[in-house]
Amino acid sequence: MTSMNKTFNFSAGPAMLPKSVMQRWQQLVAESPFPCSNISFMEIGHRTPEFQNVVAKLVGNLRELLQVPESYHILLMPGGGRMQFAALAMNLMARSPQGADYFETGLWSQQAIAEAERFGPVHTVASAVSSHYTHIPERADWVLRSDAAYCHMVSNETAHGLAFNKSPKVGEVPLVVDMTSDLLARPLKINDYGLIYAASQKNLGATGFTVVIVREDLLGHAPKTIPSQLDYQTYLTDPTPVTPVTFAIYLAGLITEWVKDQGGLKAMAKHNAVKASMLYDFLDASEHFVASVVPEYRSHTNVVFQLKNPTHTQALVAFTKARGLHGLAGHRVVGGLRASLYNAMPIEGVETLIDCLQCFFDA
Ligand SMILES: *Cc1c(COP(=O)(O)O)cnc(C)c1O
Repeated sequence: MTSMNKTFNFSAGPAMLPKSVMQRWQQLVAESPFPCSNISFMEIGHRTPEFQNVVAKLVGNLRELLQVPESYHILLMPGGGRMQFAALAMNLMARSPQGADYFETGLWSQQAIAEAERFGPVHTVASAVSSHYTHIPERADWVLRSDAAYCHMVSNETAHGLAFNKSPKVGEVPLVVDMTSDLLARPLKINDYGLIYAASQKNLGATGFTVVIVREDLLGHAPKTIPSQLDYQTYLTDPTPVTPVTFAIYLAGLITEWVKDQGGLKAMAKHNAVKASMLYDFLDASEHFVASVVPEYRSHTNVVFQLKNPTHTQALVAFTKARGLHGLAGHRVVGGLRASLYNAMPIEGVETLIDCLQCFFDA
C-alpha cells in the first residue's frame, strides 16, 4: 500500500460524499456563503432570510429533480428514518380502523413494522423471510387489503440488498415508501406514491434530518395526542418550526446542485446501473463469491455478497481496508460483505474494488 492509493468509502451510511462537494464545503466553512453578513453556515440563525433561502433552495431543487407535483408538500423534519417509522404511523394510521399493510422485505421493513405496531394493527402483505431475502414474493401471492390506512414498503433494503426495482401496484390505498437509501438514485413517478421519506445520511449527505414528500389529501388524520414536532401539519405554515440541523441542510443543498450538474436523476440512474452491473457481473463470474439475491430484485445501491468460504471474510475486509477501500463488512445482522454504491461513488471506485477482490485470491 502506498499513500498514492485513493480512498473509497463503501459504507452504507453515513456514506461517501462527492469529492467536489467536499472541496466546496471546506472552502465555505472557512469563508462564508453569505457575503452580506459574512457569517458561516454553521453559525447562521435559522430564522434569517439567508438560511430561509437555503431551505427554499433545497426544497426547490428536490421538487425540480424529482418533478414533485404541486399537490405534494416537501417537508424537512428533524430526526432520522426510525423516527419517521413512528411519525408516519401516527399521522396516517387513523385513516382506517383496519390499520396498515406492510411489505416485509428486510431489516428496515421489520423495524418499520415493529414501530407501527405501537400505533395500530399491522398486516403483512408479503414477506421475503422464507426465501431468506433472496427475492420479493410474486404479485399473485400478495395479500393487499383495500381498506388499509396505507401500504408501506422499503424500496431498497439497505442491509439485505433487496430492492423493488419497480413501484408495486397496490390499488387505491396510499403507498408509503422508505427511500432512505435510494432517493435521488433514479427518476420517480411521484404520483405512484402517497408519501415518500428519506433520512439524509445516504444520497443527501450528512445525517440529521429527513425529507418527507406527502400528498396533500393524506394530511389531517393525526390524533390530537401526536407530538407537534411529529405532526406533518406543523411543517406546512413554518418550514423550520424547530431549530433544524442547519449545516446538514446546507450540505444537502450543495449535493442537489451537484446532482443537477451531473445531468439529474436520469444520469444518476444510468451511472448507478453501470456500477451495479459491473460488480454483480464480476461476482457472478467469480468462483469465490456469491450474490444470492435474484437478479430482478438486486439493489443497485447496496450490493450484498458472501465469500463461498466465509472463514476468510474478516481477512478480506482487512485486506480491502489496507488498500483504501472502506466499509465493506456486511450489516451486523446480515454478515458477509456489502458494497454501497451511492450516487457519489465513482466508477473508478468499483473498478478498484473489483481489482482488489481479485487480488485477494491472487496474492
Ligand atoms: C439508513 C436507513 C434508515 C435510517 O434510519 P436512522 O433512524 O436514520 O438511522 C432507515 N431506512 C432505511 C431503508 C435505511 O437505509
